[in-house]
Amino acid sequence: MKYQKIKVPSNGKRITFEKGKLNVPDNPIIPFVEGDGMGPDIWRATKRVLDAAVEKAFAGKKKIIWMEIHAGLSALKKYGNDDILPEDTLNAIREFKVAIKGPLTTPVGGFDFVCLVCAKEQNGVNGKRPEKCVKCGSEFVTKRFRSLNVGLRQILDLYACVRPVRWYKGVPCPVKRPDKLDVIVFRENTEDVYAGIEFQEGTKEAKKIISFLKNVMGKNVREDSGIGIKPISIFGTKRLVRKAINHALEQNLPSVTLVHKGNIMKFTEGAFRDWGYELAKEEYRDKIVTEQELWDEFDGKMPEGKILIKDRIADQTFQQVLLRPDEYSVFATPNLNGDYLSDACAAQVGGLGLAPGANIGDEIALFEATHGTAPKYTGMDKVNPSSLILSGVMMLKYMGWIKAGEMIENALEKTISQKTVTYDLERQMEGATKLKTSEFGEKIIENM
Ligand code: NAP
Repeated sequence: MKYQKIKVPSNGKRITFEKGKLNVPDNPIIPFVEGDGMGPDIWRATKRVLDAAVEKAFAGKKKIIWMEIHAGLSALKKYGNDDILPEDTLNAIREFKVAIKGPLTTPVGGFDFVCLVCAKEQNGVNGKRPEKCVKCGSEFVTKRFRSLNVGLRQILDLYACVRPVRWYKGVPCPVKRPDKLDVIVFRENTEDVYAGIEFQEGTKEAKKIISFLKNVMGKNVREDSGIGIKPISIFGTKRLVRKAINHALEQNLPSVTLVHKGNIMKFTEGAFRDWGYELAKEEYRDKIVTEQELWDEFDGKMPEGKILIKDRIADQTFQQVLLRPDEYSVFATPNLNGDYLSDACAAQVGGLGLAPGANIGDEIALFEATHGTAPKYTGMDKVNPSSLILSGVMMLKYMGWIKAGEMIENALEKTISQKTVTYDLERQMEGATKLKTSEFGEKIIENM
């Protein structure tokens, strides 16, 4: 592949994907995006920690060869012309299969331009780009765009948003037994509200649909309504549920729970549940037991070596993760339910700022911090790098470099339980020592 502005390192090899299997050389080239706002701070710490763990775990026999690619602010600096998601970047992720990124600015809406340094949204003068940001004075004001993160997921067809949630000893949290929650959420990433089609109230289009619904379909909708359509397909559901069941099988996990609101939305959410069960029975018949079968055929006693496939209505799921957290392991959800559920679970274990994530397709995986760019802390070497570090851990495990991943998890837990933490945790812990981002990273390395 020829790149316009990316230099491919000559001392590394490509990760390849053949016959459904990832092949990882000892010196894989891994593309990374530093991210906007405080992204570069947390990236620096993350890279140090990942490199140190790989070096220690494999006695220098393996090494990641990092390759910088650009999106957001760094792309604007490198490529100009409002090119915040260059073709180079997409091609590099496609070619090298596994990549990692820091957070990127996403404008919320209503304005024409956004500053990629402080995320301030602003209008131009007579529609022209402001020369400088009205808030921070930076010159990196660019045209408004939808969302780089959503764009990356859709263009690369990264259809599963994967969010593991567990408690790390010492992290302050709101529940009595945070250790009981250890789940992984597989959230569909391309359909439901992410493929939502909306029409604003009062527009010609909204009126047309309301009239079509009334006159052709015989359904009444109030005239002053906005309209939203959320598609959920057999194809999208089955490939997501397949990924969740495969994960449960590979990791020897006890159950997969399909989360839906099928009691209300029968042909989207309800269908998600039905197609999920269908897939489980079609492709994993000898490896799974459904909850219905568990009671009908096994008197409630789980047969050895099988995975339980169950389903829960979304609102009930939120109660269950609080009241009976240890009965859940892998969740498979449509887009919106999964969005709420992964943040609620992360908050329950005090880990919203620590939660890692990945967007995974059939061959490509993009690992990322789940929080935003916290622009007010840009360049202050202050924020918590744990979310990106733990996304790096997910990446190492995905590559099969389990030992290095576990080494980081243990060292991170030790560092937090020693109460040597960044400001966000320090303010919630009694007698803790406040560290900078870089110092926290060094402490993790020391604790490996
Ligand atoms: P945010 O960047 O997540 O920050 C909100 C607050 O969360 C921060 O002010 C800080 O709280 C805390 N926080 C976030 N990350 C932290 C960390 N690593 N360590 C310690 N504290 C942390 O959310 P936002 O201010 O709403 O969004 C800013 C920009 O990021 C927006 O453009 C948004 O669209 C974008 N965004 C990107 C992603 C992504 O790339 N995946 C995700 C979400 C948002 P305190 O102020 O209390 O210290």
